[in-house]
Amino acid sequence: MSKTLFEKIAAREIPAGIVYEDDQVLAFRDINPQAPVHVLIVPKRAIPRVAAAGPGDQAVLGHLLLKAAEVAKQLGLANGYRLVINNGPDGGETVPHLHCHILGGRLLAWPPG
Ligand code: AMP
Repeated sequence: MSKTLFEKIAAREIPAGIVYEDDQVLAFRDINPQAPVHVLIVPKRAIPRVAAAGPGDQAVLGHLLLKAAEVAKQLGLANGYRLVINNGPDGGETVPHLHCHILGGRLLAWPPG
């Protein structure tokens, strides 16, 4: 199986601005930021998307959300932030390796486009 883009970032085969890493997840700056702070947090073991996740992924997905909150705090987003997981074509998913966007540093509009 070939590596996903984000597995290549985790393997340091593609450079990225890594802001957090542990044995299960990696967080790094989005290459095309949509807000003053835009970080992606991903499970190191690729799950294509949330719709493809199963019971065996429960622990890592819970860990990912808890770490997203920690990373947001570490990045100074005390006034709030948004977590986004795009799923499938209509959801705007472009990289088939589940990732949670952490967006903040400005007032974010609702509803999203
Ligand atoms: P999505 O559209 O939800 O699948 O999000 C994919 C995100 O990955 C987009 O926000 C891209 O800007 C981001 N992205 C693509 N390539 C890279 C890269 N090499 N390093 C960091 N972020 C990337």
